[in-house]
Parts: sequence; structure tokens; C-alpha cells
Amino acid sequence: MSVILHLFGTVKVSARVVVRLCLCAFIAQLTVGCGQDAPPPNVIIISLDTLRADHVGAAGYERDTTPNIDQLAEEGTTFLNNYSQAPNTAPSHTSILASLYPSVHGVYRHGQVLDPEVQTLPEVFQQAGYRTAAFTQLNGETYKQGFDHTHFLESPSNAGKGLEDTRVIQKWISESSDQPFFLFVHSYDVHLPYSPPQRFIDLFASGYDGPLPVWIQRQDINQINRGELDLTARDYQYIVDLYDAELYRADEILGTLFDHVRQAGIWDDTLILVFSDHGEEFGEHGLYGRHTYSLYNELLRTPLILRGPGVPAGKKVTQPTRNIDIAPTLLRLAGLEPPETFMGEDLQPVWKGREQTPREVVAERRVDRILIRDRYKYFSDGRLFDLHLDPTEQEDIAMTHPEIAQEMREGLDGWIRSFIVLQKEVASSDDILLTWEEEKRLRALGYLD
Ligand SMILES: [Zn+2]
Repeated sequence: MSVILHLFGTVKVSARVVVRLCLCAFIAQLTVGCGQDAPPPNVIIISLDTLRADHVGAAGYERDTTPNIDQLAEEGTTFLNNYSQAPNTAPSHTSILASLYPSVHGVYRHGQVLDPEVQTLPEVFQQAGYRTAAFTQLNGETYKQGFDHTHFLESPSNAGKGLEDTRVIQKWISESSDQPFFLFVHSYDVHLPYSPPQRFIDLFASGYDGPLPVWIQRQDINQINRGELDLTARDYQYIVDLYDAELYRADEILGTLFDHVRQAGIWDDTLILVFSDHGEEFGEHGLYGRHTYSLYNELLRTPLILRGPGVPAGKKVTQPTRNIDIAPTLLRLAGLEPPETFMGEDLQPVWKGREQTPREVVAERRVDRILIRDRYKYFSDGRLFDLHLDPTEQEDIAMTHPEIAQEMREGLDGWIRSFIVLQKEVASSDDILLTWEEEKRLRALGYLD
């Protein structure tokens, strides 16, 4: 890779040329065993869609919602301040798989297709000799890029859920024993509807007798958010109880997958990552059971737990990390070079204590954006919050701290300028440089798509 960087250090080339050349380096590296004696690790990444970081035991939740994930965390590293780059599924998962910010990859809705020239995490593994598979509840072509095998997950007994048991996944793993594999599992098991079987209701939500129904569906949430129901604190807690019951159920099923990996004798050779694409709203800013419509931390703070070869056990990382950092980290741990297009950074320097400056976090909801730098969070509409003093983002301090707001505004503008440059390289957009204000104004006028 250093050779490639040297060759192109002063010569501007298209991203796709760099990516293709990098691939040669990846394949060559695998052939020579990445300069290491250890075999390339298997990689399993599990996205529990809509999982808030603060409902995971390993991240400090007081309820025992995730015993199997917590066991994983004890064997690995937990990132306690991890952030998604978007508050909804399609842009967030694309950001994870392509290690690009949403406005660079341009995928905002289900069904939109990522530019096939953009290199993704599964593609790099695939082209390095890995078997690759996705068992997901995601639809559209976006998530097929780089996978040898795709399987739509659905639970026969629980509409809308993906995990019933993990036998179909186990079968694929068993067939992969002669090659390293990359496996992506995604499920909506903690996403609405909150409809856990009675056994899990008994564990987390027993003794509730209404007025909310036993299971909470989308239409119930809509009624609640429109203020049509007269609810008490107990009723609102019941919504959270059902969510926790769904999480416990999903964790239990994932435990069977972990057991299979252990019994297959590949546990020590397998990297396992548990994460989510965004969180969920439980009344912090007035709404329940929703995501997509804001950039508050109940939607952006997501779990990130990684264990396996090269990852320290029992470590808790408090520095800010980002979902776009997932892809380069996994590739580095597998001895592979991330493509030049990736915007995330390897997390190893963070857990090794070699990074003194905290990473900045940017998240996007179309032209609405946030920047987190140290203790401050700045919204592109001008609001500023002190996350140390006000972690739930209730008090805008932009008026009382105008100099900090100005610095953060300039910082966010810098990020956006870099995005637009990369849009040009990755997606062949127009050669323009705009601040977020200019971009927003032009969009409002209809000059930008
Ligand atoms: Zn989602």
C-alpha cells in the first residue's frame, strides 16, 4: 500500500483506479499470508437494527437484556461512545459497508443502489479469497454488492422479525470450513412492532393491564405520538419494557449462533462484531418508537462490541468512535488494506491508546448535520449542546457560547467541503464547493438533487 500511496502521492487519479490497484495489493497480501503466520480470521458482523447503546448490559444498562452479547464483550472490546452516521437504516448501513458518509455515497432510501464502482467491505473480503454471505432483512440491491450468497431472514412465527433460530446461518458457516468467511447478519428483531412471545413479556413487562395493547404496533405508536392517548409514566415504561423483551429474545437466539461457532471449533479464529445502524426514541424529545427524523443521541449512539483475534479482552473504550470505522478496522485485523475511498479509520490506535486527539463525529440526515467535537455537539441549524453537562441535549447554549458555536460551525463546514470533493471522486458529482448553508439554499431552490 505504501508503494501505491507513493505512486499517487502527487498525481490525481480517479478513486476507482486507486481502488482497482489496491485490490491487487489485497490479493497479493492474502497470497503471502499478510506477512503473518496466523490464518486469515473469519468475520461475523451482526446488526441488530434499532438497538440503542444504552440498553446493552455491556454498555452499562441496569437490566439483564443481553447476557450473550455481554459475554462477547467480556472476551473483547466495547466502544462506549460509538456513533452511527445516519438515524435510519439505508444510509446508515451503506455508510458502514462502504465506509462513506451518507452525502458521499448518496443512498438515503431503501431500493437506492450504491454506485457499483464504490468498493465495499464485503467486496474486499470476497476479492481477497473469502466466502461472503448476507443473511438480512434488508431489501434492495444496495446490500447485495460483494456477497456470494444472500438470504432474506424471516421468522415464520413472528411477523416482521428475522431471527427464529439460526440454523440456516449455521449451515452456511459449516459449508465454509475450508475457506475464511465474511458473514453479515441483519435483523429487525428489536425494531417495531414490539411483539415478543409471552415468555419474554413475563420476564420484562409482566403485570401490565392496559390501556396499551399487549403488543405495540406502528399504528399504536402513531396514536401515541399524535397525543391521542392519555398515558401515564407506567404506560410509557411498558413500551420500553417490550423493547427490552425483544432485545433479550434476540440476544438469546444470537447465543445459539455463538454456541455453534464455538462447537465448530472456529471461535478463536473468528472476529465477531455486534453493532446497530441507529437507536430509537423513547420520549427524550417528545416521540416514541421512531427514528429517521432527528440527529439526537438516542438515535446516533449505537453499540459496538468486537471480539476475536487481535482484539483485547475486557476493554472498555470511552473515546468517540464511529460506525464508518468498522470496515477499515475489520480489514486491518484481517491483514488487508482498506481501499483509499474509505473515510473511516482503523480503531486499533484508539484501543491501544495511541491516538491522543479524540475523533470527530459527523452524522447526516440529508442536509441536516451534526458535529461532535470533544464535549460539544453542534447542529447545522445553529444549536449547540454540552454533552458533559447536558447529555440528553435539552439546553441549546449557542447564544451563551457564540465563540464555540462559531468554531464548531467552521469545523462542520470543513467536513462538508471534504464530502463534496469526495462526492466528485466517488460518485462523479459536479465540481462544486459549498458550505452547508449554500448547499441547503441551493437545494431549496431546486438547483441540487
Ligand atoms: Zn434501521
